[in-house]
Amino acid sequence: MADILLPTNTIVHPDKDRFLHEENPFEAMMARFDRAAELLDLEPGIYKVLRNPEKTIIVSIPVMMDSGEVEVFTGIRCIYNTSRGPAKGGIRFDKNVSLDEVKALAAWMTWKCAVVNIPFGGAKGGVICDPLQMSIGELERVTRRYTTGIIATLGPDSDVPAPDVNTNERVMAWLMDTYSMRVGHTVNAVTTGKPVAMGGSLGRREATGRGCMITTREALTHLGMSMKGATVVVQGFGNVGSIAAELMQDEGCKVVAISDRTGGWYSPKGIDVKHAIKYVEENKTLEGYNVGEPVSNEAILELECDVLVPAALENVITTKNASRIKAKVVCEGANGPTSAGADTILDEKGIFVIPDILANAGGVTVSYFEWVQNRGGYYWSEQVVNERLKEIMVNSFAEVLKLSRLHRVNMRTASYMLSISRVSMVHKLRGIYA
Ligand code: NAD
Repeated sequence: MADILLPTNTIVHPDKDRFLHEENPFEAMMARFDRAAELLDLEPGIYKVLRNPEKTIIVSIPVMMDSGEVEVFTGIRCIYNTSRGPAKGGIRFDKNVSLDEVKALAAWMTWKCAVVNIPFGGAKGGVICDPLQMSIGELERVTRRYTTGIIATLGPDSDVPAPDVNTNERVMAWLMDTYSMRVGHTVNAVTTGKPVAMGGSLGRREATGRGCMITTREALTHLGMSMKGATVVVQGFGNVGSIAAELMQDEGCKVVAISDRTGGWYSPKGIDVKHAIKYVEENKTLEGYNVGEPVSNEAILELECDVLVPAALENVITTKNASRIKAKVVCEGANGPTSAGADTILDEKGIFVIPDILANAGGVTVSYFEWVQNRGGYYWSEQVVNERLKEIMVNSFAEVLKLSRLHRVNMRTASYMLSISRVSMVHKLRGIYA
C-alpha cells in the first residue's frame, strides 16, 4: 500500500446517485469513478484523461450467410486505457451490445486489472448479432472479419482480447488464427482464453468462477460466517455462474437456485450443480430441467439466501428491486450487475457487496498468466495456476477490505479508489506526451 496516497477518515453520502439513468452502464461506471476520484482528490488533468477512452473503433462486418444473402453486422472495440500495459478485455457477441456498454466494460477492465495489480490496461469489444441464431460457419466468418477490421489495434503488446458473453475458446482460436495469418507467423499471445492445445492456460476456463468462490469465502470469513451450509443463489448459469456454483458447492455451500436466459429453478433442499452442468452440456440450456420449482429471473434475485451471485448481464439489481434483495453477501460474477443507485440501498440494508472489478477478476488474472506463459514459452501446471490465482485474489480482497475500513466506504468505492490511484500514479509518472 506504500504506493498509494489517500485521504483518511472520509465518509461518503452518495444519495445523488439515486437519480442517475440506471440503464446506461457507462454512466453507472462513471458515477462510481466520480465518487472515488472525489475521495482521492484526483488531479483535474488526470481526472479528465481517465473519464475518456483512448480509442474506439467501429467496423462494419459484411458476412455471407448460409442462405447466400449478405448480412452486415456492427463490431466495436474500445481501448479505454493502456497506461499500465497492453489493453486487455473480452469480446461479446450479443444483440444488445451497444457503444455505451462496450465503453463501460472497457473502463471496468482498466480498473479490474489495476485492482488485482496485473500489468494490463483495459479494453472491450462486441459484435451486435444474435449468435444463438447463427451457424458455426456464420460465427467463424463474423469472427474473422471482425478480427480483420480491428487488426490495427490487436497484438500481444497492444491489445489482447479474451472470451466474454457468447464467445468461447473456439472464437479465440479463430481470432488468433486470423491475426497469425495476417502477420505471417503464429502469435498465440494475441489472445487469451484459447484452447489449451494451442497455448491456452490450464485453469483459465474455471478462473472467473474460482475467483468468485475465493472472494466469497473471504467475505464470509470476514463476516464471521462459513461456506459450510451457506445458501447460494446464482443468476446466469454460463461459464462464470456454473463454475462459481460448482466450486462453492465443493466448499460445502448449498446452492438453492440457478437460472439462465430460459428461466430458473429453486430447490430449498439444494441443487446438485454437477448434475445441472451436465444437463446444460446435453441440452444447451436449463429449459426443462425440472428440479425443484420454476423461478423467474426477477424473482430469483429476491430469494432468501446467504450469497447471491448475479452472473449473467449488467443492471439486474437496480433501485426498483434492491430493497427486496435478502442475501447477506452479493458476489458480482457479472460485470455491472448493480446500478449505482442500488449500491446505496444495498449499503443501507447492510448487504456486503463484493464488487465486480474484484469478484470476477480471476478470469483476467489467469488470462495474464496465459499471456505470460505464451511469451515465455513455458507452461505451468493447473496446481501452480490455481495457487497463484488464489494468492492474488486473497491479497486483493484484503487490500480492498483494508481501504474500505480505513476510509469507511463500501467495498465498491474502496476497489475504485485502489485501482484509480494505481492508474493515475502511472499517468503522473509518464506525464502528458505533447
Ligand atoms: P456465458 O455466455 O458463458 O453465460 C451467460 C449466462 O447468462 C448464460 O447461462 C445465459 O443463459 C445467462 N443469461 C443471459 N441472459 C440472461 C438473463 N436475462 N437472465 C438470466 N440469465 C441470463 O457468459 P459468461 O462468460 O459466464 O459471462 C457472464 C458475465 O460474467 C458477463 O457479465 C461477463 O462480462 C462477466 N465476466 C465473464 C468473465 C469470463 O471469464 N467469462 C470474466 C469476467 C466477467
